[in-house]
Amino acid sequence: MTSASPRSARRTHTFTESVIREMTRVAREHDAINLAQGFPDFPAPTLIKEAACRAVRDDVNQYAITWGAPRLREALVRKYGRRYGMEVDAEREVTITCGATEAMASVMLAVVNPGDEVIVPEPFYENYGPDAVISDARPVFLTLEAPDYRLDPERLRALVTPRTRAIVLNTPNNPTGRVFDADELEAVASVCREHDVLAVTDEIYEHILYEGRHVPLATLPGMRDRTITVSGLSKTFSVTGWRVGTIVAPPDLTAAIRKVHDFLTVGAPAPLQEACATGLDDLDEAYYQGMISDYIERRDVLVSALQEAGFRCRPPQGAYYVLADFSSLSDEDDTTFAKRLTREGGVASVPGSSFFSVPERGGTMVRFAFCKRVETLREAGRRLRAFRG
Ligand code: GLN
Repeated sequence: MTSASPRSARRTHTFTESVIREMTRVAREHDAINLAQGFPDFPAPTLIKEAACRAVRDDVNQYAITWGAPRLREALVRKYGRRYGMEVDAEREVTITCGATEAMASVMLAVVNPGDEVIVPEPFYENYGPDAVISDARPVFLTLEAPDYRLDPERLRALVTPRTRAIVLNTPNNPTGRVFDADELEAVASVCREHDVLAVTDEIYEHILYEGRHVPLATLPGMRDRTITVSGLSKTFSVTGWRVGTIVAPPDLTAAIRKVHDFLTVGAPAPLQEACATGLDDLDEAYYQGMISDYIERRDVLVSALQEAGFRCRPPQGAYYVLADFSSLSDEDDTTFAKRLTREGGVASVPGSSFFSVPERGGTMVRFAFCKRVETLREAGRRLRAFRG
């Protein structure tokens, strides 16, 4: 990486470019199977593609209302009601953003003051650190220990200070695959209630879990008014390039979030918002069940291939990543190993260090994404076994 230019702002010096997207570039360079960046290589549902084409043809081609097309906000309100029994006001509590990525950044900018602390469980999805830094806040990391990655209530409590403003919770979790259970959710909720702290949840994988049901933190007692629920349609409808994210938050916070969002991006793509509304209303339970059983098959193909190739890993409970330990295959550090696996093995992954505040903590791990066709995963499996030699 080139060193930071003195002409660039100091805040950009404290985080690096995205390792996930860098690995996508490395994968392309070596014509490797890209199990690094989590995006599907299979088609999106026909129903929403048709709806998107229709919206473009019908000339839904100008700005939507900055905080989201009414049809999409209303469809989202119906979804939260139907699935989670959550009552949401489409006029005052919903913001549609350019992906969950913009949602998280807009939320941080809207609710965190310079010098505030934001608790981030680690391993974490790489955006949360820079999001905190961009908002001039200080990320404080709560380490979850491998291989269970349980959230320890006592450790969480020990990190709370008078400056703690928010806790970030990503469930189902990227990269560990954990779905936090009722006790862990309650641990976060009780800290938020007792210390008047906000919860910022990233629930982008809410429909991709392999056992049980997703429970939004906002549905726990006393949490609706303290939780900002971020999600989006990228993963649910396999359209990561559409950039349609969603935020549900109490009205006073929504007002602040909408201002930031408006001046950052004006709005998410109007025709694609229409198509997502159609998807939310018209794709039935069979769609969601089918998506889950497809992911279970993909997960099982990848996990067995990794285990046969000498990696140590467990099947995730949700989301579509496997964090695998390669220490019985190599003594290299994670970045050297991941790059060599891409170059010589033809399979790209993400170095584990990019999910930790202290790189060494992820030094023997790489993350693989399995949101790929079974054929793609089987071919990756063959390559991984051959790499072991
Ligand atoms: N969330 C996906 C991942 O973790 C994609 C990241 C991205 O590039 N926006 O791989």
